[in-house]
Amino acid sequence: MSIETLTAAVRNIPDFPIPGIQFKDITTLFQSQEHLKELSDILYEKYRDRGITKVVGIESRGFFMGPAVAIKLGAGFVPIRKPGKLPYKVIEETYTKEYGDDVIQIHEDALTKEDVVLIHDDLLATGGTMVAAYNLVKKLGVKKIYINFLIELEELEGHVLFPDEVEVSSVLKFKV
Ligand code: AMP
Repeated sequence: MSIETLTAAVRNIPDFPIPGIQFKDITTLFQSQEHLKELSDILYEKYRDRGITKVVGIESRGFFMGPAVAIKLGAGFVPIRKPGKLPYKVIEETYTKEYGDDVIQIHEDALTKEDVVLIHDDLLATGGTMVAAYNLVKKLGVKKIYINFLIELEELEGHVLFPDEVEVSSVLKFKV
């Protein structure tokens, strides 16, 4: 299956949730058995030789593919969640969004120094969410971090926020 076919399966919703946003609806991509399998195969082929021990998914759309890829890679899955959701001791990171601040958390014992981590989310826009997730995972002192998105909005240039030594990849690229 081609990348064009997968790209065409993403539904664009203009002006959602607010005017000016071209919302990328991935439910139309996921509802097809063939698309879902192709996506998980692409991610497996990309990361199979990297020694990934944990896939970290960001709430909430990073929870769709994250566990599926973790199973294929033979890795564990760790959630990054919004405040008040994780039941044990957490560490957190605050980041600035367009309207006010946001906080994300991870269990303090979820990752170890031996872990090679793939942080996964559905979409890279400004990059604020993933930078916060990257900083959070780094605080736990893991061995190596890879970053992956299903979709990158290229014109927002979110990828420039990450240090050169971090490999950042996305499966599908959109202009806006
Ligand atoms: P950002 O922190 O700006 O990179 O935003 C990334 C997060 O916001 C992701 O978790 C996405 O789920 C969501 N998001 C931002 N822009 C869009 C968009 N145009 N379509 C769908 N989701 C978006």
